[in-house]
Amino acid sequence: MAVTSRRQFIQQSLFAAAALYRYPVQTLTGAPAILRTIEQNGASVDPAEIRKLASKISGHVITPTAPEYESLRLVFNRAFNLRPAVIVRCAGPSDVARALDFGQQQKIPVAVHSGGHSRLGYGMCDGGVVIDLAGMNRVKVDAGNRLARAEAGALVHDLDVATQKFGLATTSGGCPTVGITGLTLGGGQGKLMGLYGAACDNLLSAQLVTVDGKEVVASRDIDPDLFWAIRGGGGNFGVVTALEYQVHPVTDVLGGTLLYPPGRIPELLQAFARFVETEPDEMDSLAQLLPSDGGARCRIDVCYCGDPRTGNELLRPLRALKPQEDDVKVTPYLTIQSGGGFLQAPVAHFQTNQFLPKLSETAIAAIAAALNDAPRHDKVFGKVIVVPLHGAISRVPVTDTAFVLRRPGYEVDIAGVWSDPAEKAGAVRWVEALRDKLQPLAQGVYANQLGETSEALVRAAYGANYGRLRRVKQKYDPNNVLRLNQNIRPA
Ligand SMILES: Cc1cc2nc3c(=O)[nH]c(=O)nc-3n(C[C@H](O)[C@H](O)[C@H](O)COP(=O)(O)OP(=O)(O)OC[C@H]3O[C@@H](n4cnc5c(N)ncnc54)[C@H](O)[C@@H]3O)c2cc1C
Repeated sequence: MAVTSRRQFIQQSLFAAAALYRYPVQTLTGAPAILRTIEQNGASVDPAEIRKLASKISGHVITPTAPEYESLRLVFNRAFNLRPAVIVRCAGPSDVARALDFGQQQKIPVAVHSGGHSRLGYGMCDGGVVIDLAGMNRVKVDAGNRLARAEAGALVHDLDVATQKFGLATTSGGCPTVGITGLTLGGGQGKLMGLYGAACDNLLSAQLVTVDGKEVVASRDIDPDLFWAIRGGGGNFGVVTALEYQVHPVTDVLGGTLLYPPGRIPELLQAFARFVETEPDEMDSLAQLLPSDGGARCRIDVCYCGDPRTGNELLRPLRALKPQEDDVKVTPYLTIQSGGGFLQAPVAHFQTNQFLPKLSETAIAAIAAALNDAPRHDKVFGKVIVVPLHGAISRVPVTDTAFVLRRPGYEVDIAGVWSDPAEKAGAVRWVEALRDKLQPLAQGVYANQLGETSEALVRAAYGANYGRLRRVKQKYDPNNVLRLNQNIRPA
């Protein structure tokens, strides 16, 4: 990937200084719920200050005139089209410290970008500085001690590939291009969560740069308050530069997809709920529901980490419902993990979620009815994903880490996708309508899968831990420099 060297940067700055940062500032009055409040900053950044920053950075400083600026500013959720004043492609913790200092000195927004998969585009900003960690993505595995140490820019795929070389793995996300840092800081759900807990439960330590530029380590023994907060409290407390995980033996699994004929959503979801109620820790499953012309379709993905004979026995009730396609077989874990996420490629979307302790008849009826009305064209469609939480992830006491979804139940993700901006309002309305129907049944939300924010949602996302999180925030980021996230206000 071509990036601006310090010399190129200085040349570009000299030739184009006058043109820097003259892009229009968009006003978002009356914006629909999907759009987070984007902090506007009318003041331009002095090019001389950027040159000074570039001279101290070991990585690369990218400005709007650099050829790679347009690709680097893109985030997975194409609903966001943000134009930062400067992107700092960090090479190490000292670059992070300098970029943090720059943002504070210039009084501009600071965004932290690892994998770029925030549903709210939080890894990018308008008019501010982006601390981009994508180039710091090495993963080292200590197989003897079952540890993996990853730099903060590593993606789910990077972590899986490195650990699977040794027949090891830890809980990581269902989409290979998600960043492990954003994933872990918000909790981190994946196929191994029933067996080994959330990604944050496998975190042993983290290296961070705090907003005052200090490089610190957090673990159970060192700064335990900070370590507690970063396991579920998101990117509120400092910029993570490396993470150390416990890893576990995982090789072949029994995994794949059962795809059912259209038009049987209530029956299939009821059967799915019965299946989930008895599934052991080794079994992970989720249901994806998509509208189609013949009626909505249900696809159930399974991954069983145990004896395949037992796994096949457990799957009997799902197979008895006569799936049209069944490719569940013994497969390397890495193959299952590389299969892709719910949305395979970057796309404009609005996704939100509710945590339901039960998949009740009322909830199933609401989901089935919504799918009948869902937009369903090539360019715009609605989708529901039902993610059961059970086993190890649900046995950790709520106050042990900041991550609060600690009881068995279902995270119901509702997504509206569009490529033509004219279709956006309809897709958003569809998501909001189902969200509002499920609201009376919900007991929480998953911060990492929220495409919207508000004070009420932040409180719901951090639940019983919100008060303690605010106190930790006050200690580490009293001026709320790191506020492009599901934001915890300093106490
Ligand atoms: C297609 C898709 C599939 C997904 N699948 C799953 C899944 O299977 N399981 C699951 O649990 N979640 C999943 N998610 C949600 C995902 O966990 C969150 O969006 C997560 O925040 C993405 O992290 P990122 O590093 O890729 O994103 P970024 O946009 O780079 O970062 C998101 C936020 O995380 C924080 N952050 C990131 N890096 C740092 C850092 N180095 N230091 C401090 N803060 C940081 C910041 O607040 C930042 O704004 C998925 C999202 C998408 C779009």
